[in-house]
Order: sequence, then structure tokens, then C-alpha cells
Amino acid sequence: MEKAYLEMDQIVAMFKQVAQSIIDNVDMLTKADQAIGDGDHGIGMQRGFETVLKELNEKEFNSLTDLLKKIGFSLMNSIGGASGALFGTLFTGAARELVGQEQLNALNLSVLLRSGLEAVKKRGKAQPGDKTMIDALEPAANVSEGYSSLTEGITAAAEAARLGMEATKEMVASFGRAKSLGDRALGYPDPGSISVFLILNEMKAFITAK
Ligand code: ADP
Ligand code: MG
Repeated sequence: MEKAYLEMDQIVAMFKQVAQSIIDNVDMLTKADQAIGDGDHGIGMQRGFETVLKELNEKEFNSLTDLLKKIGFSLMNSIGGASGALFGTLFTGAARELVGQEQLNALNLSVLLRSGLEAVKKRGKAQPGDKTMIDALEPAANVSEGYSSLTEGITAAAEAARLGMEATKEMVASFGRAKSLGDRALGYPDPGSISVFLILNEMKAFITAK
């Protein structure tokens, strides 16, 4: 039976599954960052989401804002570097716009993606086409708008993130460490955009399995 929304206990379970998926993909993320960065993206994300998993296992959450704030600060405090601040900001930015919400429905999903995107843009100053996580996140946020079905919204968002991540292969970086590589980064996907895709794809796996 398709569900129109998730309750808090299911949302927590979903983000635990997301955390585990990032941890399981550490080698792939490491290789992606070794190709065009300094190779630390996998380890950073693994450390960050291990902290998230620990916090989600230990505490109870009564609202989306509490949960997203905890995820964001866990990432910020444990990853460090550019992506700690940026992935942390994605979640804390979303937390601010979802005050009072206790369900994940199609509308809240699009608010989460939009406000997370805007917060990351404000913090990192990257724009679409700069070969960053924005190139997966912005198309996902755009396409998620207007759905009444959570399943359809997350399915569209995950697919848009995948296409956005694929498109970063054709981009030359203007931000982050790949900037100094110029054309040599062509052919390689941006590591942060892979992480955005993995997060949304695992959210989709959880939601569509319900
Ligand atoms: P670091 O760049 O400190 O080594 P990571 O390797 O963990 O950090 O993360 C790199 C990722 O961070 C990049 O692949 C890119 O997606 C993202 N990133 C870097 N700078 C920015 C920025 N200014 N705005 C958005 N995303 C960025
Ligand atoms: Mg790196």
C-alpha cells in the first residue's frame, strides 16, 4: 500500500537507512574524490553518517526540525572541510523551513529540497554548472515541486539527481579542489553530486518499499 506520508518514527528509520547506504558506498566515494579531488570525500561522509546513525539510535525525535537539525549538526561537527559545512547546511537549512512539521509528505519533501538547496548555495556560493553537489540537488528540488504523491515526488527527485550527477562529468569545476584541474576533470562525476544522488536514492528505496 502506497503511503501519502511518513510519520516521525518512519522518517528516522529512513535516515538511518540513508546513513547506512552512504557508509556502504565509502569506497566508491573515495575513488570519485581521488580522481578529481584529494580523496577524502568517502572517509568524511562515512565519519559523518556514522555519527548520524549513532545519534538517531540514541535519541527520540518529535519533529522534522529536531531531526534535520541533529543530522545537520552531526555532519558539520564530524566531517569538517568544505563538505562538512555544505552537507550539514543542507539539513540545517531544511530544518529551519519545516518548523512544526511532523510528517514527510510530497509538499514537505519539496520544501526540504528547496530550502536545503538555497542554504547550500548561500553558504558555498556555487551555481548550477560549477560541477558541485548543487548540480544534483537543484534539478531534484525543481522537479519535486507540485506532486501530491510522496512516492512520485521522491522517485522524480532521485532520477533528476542521478541525471544531474551524470551531467557533472561534462562540466569543468569552478569551485572546490577540482577547480585547479581545469579540463582534466572532464569525464569524472563530482563526488558531492554522487553523495546527493545516494541520499535521495536511498530515501526513494525506503519510501517505495513502504
Ligand atoms: P573537500 O573539498 O574539503 O576535500 P570533500 O571532498 O568532502 O571536501 O567534498 C567535495 C565536494 O564538496 C565536491 O565534490 C562538491 O560537490 C562539494 N563542494 C565543494 N565546494 C563547494 C561549493 N562552494 N558549493 C557547493 N558544493 C561544493
Ligand atoms: Mg575532498
